[in-house]
Amino acid sequence: MMRNETRLKINGRAWRVKLVKSKELPKDRFGDCDHPPGRHPTVRISQALSQRRMAEITVHELLHAALPSLDESAVTDTAAVIGRALFSLGWRRSPLQSKANNRSKQ
Ligand SMILES: [Zn+2]
Repeated sequence: MMRNETRLKINGRAWRVKLVKSKELPKDRFGDCDHPPGRHPTVRISQALSQRRMAEITVHELLHAALPSLDESAVTDTAAVIGRALFSLGWRRSPLQSKANNRSKQ
């Protein structure tokens, strides 16, 4: 089953990385990253994005989490390159599947 949330350790802290409805984000934001990281540091990414944009925004917000001193334009430029490369090489998020639809999974 695809998940909309995962946890990973970044700089020794347990971060939550979540795909969220766009209304859970500030207007005109596609993702955000807790800064400074609080008690439960979280990265949020809109699930309403195209696959290519989702790859880019995910990389973008994770760069903020991993390298908080990197300035916005460096994050934006780097995330655009990495996101485009991943998409070009074929990385895609699988569609959400219902249980009934899941039989080909191993
Ligand atoms: Zn940013």
